[in-house]
Amino acid sequence: MAYEQVYQGNMVEIFKISPYFYFRRANLPIRGQCNGAFIVGEREVVIVDAPPEGIEMLDEAEKLFHKPVTAVLLTHGHTDHIDGLPAWLEKDVTVYCNYRILDRLVPEKAYLQAFSSMRGTCRANFTGVHDKINLYLADGKEGGIDIELFIMGDVMHSKGDMFVRVPALELICTGDAVVEYQTTYFHGADIRGWIYSLRQLAQLQNKWILPGHNPELLPYSYMTGFADYLSVIETCARICFMRFHPELLGKTEEERFDSVTTDEVKVLVEEFFDERSKDVVFLEEKAGPVDARRVVRMTLWEFIREWIR
Ligand SMILES: [Zn+2]
Repeated sequence: MAYEQVYQGNMVEIFKISPYFYFRRANLPIRGQCNGAFIVGEREVVIVDAPPEGIEMLDEAEKLFHKPVTAVLLTHGHTDHIDGLPAWLEKDVTVYCNYRILDRLVPEKAYLQAFSSMRGTCRANFTGVHDKINLYLADGKEGGIDIELFIMGDVMHSKGDMFVRVPALELICTGDAVVEYQTTYFHGADIRGWIYSLRQLAQLQNKWILPGHNPELLPYSYMTGFADYLSVIETCARICFMRFHPELLGKTEEERFDSVTTDEVKVLVEEFFDERSKDVVFLEEKAGPVDARRVVRMTLWEFIREWIR
């Protein structure tokens, strides 16, 4: 990446994208952290996502910017994006997230393991975003920094997806609604709502995507490419799903649930991949042979769950 690196440590690298926007590239496989960002105003800093070991991000903010963090913007509620939250909740911050996950983040109500590490009292405020919220950071000049927080109508990657857009940079932080192909994760996803909403998002005027997982920012055209990728996964999972159908038809819910085992799903998807259709070849080109199979299996499981419900 051509951007200036301003920090490196703990398998994290921070890059200056503009005078007020910093991309935090983090490591998922070893550190369990998502990508994030620092948006730096004249007197305060706003961060995007709170990955595990939140204390590290807190130290980075203090070291690099010498200003308090006043807001934490969460792209969704998965652990690699929120487990660092306890480090921030003892500060005077406002946590913004999709209203659908507000309940599980407020410490008194939260059942999350991560919150047991919180020692002090919670000083944070919580704001659930229902449609769209605009934030404004003074930057010492005219105009300041506008930040748009918004959610889409459909469940996409998760039921708690929220988007953070910086209009002046034509940049959008997507969390895991857009990621590198091989890291796509489907548990709790609604693939149809996801594809539909991505195609709507693709209509916006933007140049850059800051994805939940990928070593680089991505050009905005990736939004459409990613929707296309999900469409092929959906097609493949649907074909596999229909192959389950005859033997399960007519059985009760419990029987159907019991009829489908992890091994069966694995074998079915393996057999499907052995047929080497052009969709299978496309998915392997994008995600590699191991993850191409995984994403189809995960989507198939989401279909099975939904069908059983
Ligand atoms: Zn993630």
